[in-house]
Amino acid sequence: MTWSLKIARFAGINVYLHWTFLILLAWIFISSVNAGQDLVEALTGVGFILALFACIVLHEFGHALTARRYGIQTQRITLLPIGGLAMLEKMPENPRHELAVALAGPAVNVVIAILLSLYLALTGQELPLSQLEDPSQISFARYFIPNLLIVNVLLFAFNLIPAFPMDGGRVLRALLSMRYGRATATNIAAKIGQFLAIGFVFFGFMYDFWLIFIGLFIYLGASGEASYETQRSLLSHLTVGDVLMHQYTPLHAWETIGRAVEILLDGHEKEFIVTEDNHIIGTISRDEIIKGLQMLGKEERIKRIVNQDWIRLTADMELNEAYEQMSRKKMSICPVYDAYGELVGVLNQENILEAIMVESAREGRKAPPQIVAD
Ligand SMILES: [Zn+2]
Repeated sequence: MTWSLKIARFAGINVYLHWTFLILLAWIFISSVNAGQDLVEALTGVGFILALFACIVLHEFGHALTARRYGIQTQRITLLPIGGLAMLEKMPENPRHELAVALAGPAVNVVIAILLSLYLALTGQELPLSQLEDPSQISFARYFIPNLLIVNVLLFAFNLIPAFPMDGGRVLRALLSMRYGRATATNIAAKIGQFLAIGFVFFGFMYDFWLIFIGLFIYLGASGEASYETQRSLLSHLTVGDVLMHQYTPLHAWETIGRAVEILLDGHEKEFIVTEDNHIIGTISRDEIIKGLQMLGKEERIKRIVNQDWIRLTADMELNEAYEQMSRKKMSICPVYDAYGELVGVLNQENILEAIMVESAREGRKAPPQIVAD
């Protein structure tokens, strides 16, 4: 994700701020000045948004640090104007672990809310509930802490809506997984989420326009999660050895780019492994060959353009695991070795897509919409 600014690093996790967030701050400031508020009120409004997002960062760290206890790392936390996003490597497969990770975020907001209520009780302040009836009454300068308490309660409630991609959707899925399999649980949770989403859109038309956006957001999140899980469960009993290709054309590092183009045009292979002295030194895809042709011409050696950042798969590896590793590295092809370190074939993205199609045909259902790595 580009357009993001690194603002902090804690417990080995980088926190990024998406630039559109700055627009939100400017918009809050300008609209409060336009609404006739004085400078102090306008600036406290901006300060309030910053405090709110600090709470969201803590919420995301709740997820990330709980996931770490189960050996799952978090690549980054990004703040967007619509909220925070902790990029976990994956969600835990064990339902109890998933439940703990999903609940940890909202639990942080509960803790913050309790601390803020204690502060209010100790200083003898009250919650300005009259504000809720009349939004023009909202004053951050006067009720900074009380408002922060209210938004933490709202964050807690909003995140526990039982629909993907909200935390509540994962809580629901984890609870259902304890009873049914994970794939069935995901399907039920996704259906409930989509039902709720339609409800949000419906009420949005009648009452509040924002509900329509929330509804669409939930609807897309629920469908994405469901197809990802369907795909995983379809592939769950397969290993790399089941779907790898034994027939493939290796390119030699000293061959020319022109020769690679010929092979590309001649057959149906779109990505290749590249060898030198009987060793694999990397891989190359169609796009990389075309780019090499444009930049260096057809006489240049393939060695100059080979992608050396490759991974080796083993035939006994679970296909889902291989797929995740390939997606993470954006690899389109990988060499596959047996237990003795002998090269036995290659695996490409197309093999995986074909496996998904074959498995869904066998189970008599429609192939899920593809989630492709790049
Ligand atoms: Zn969360």
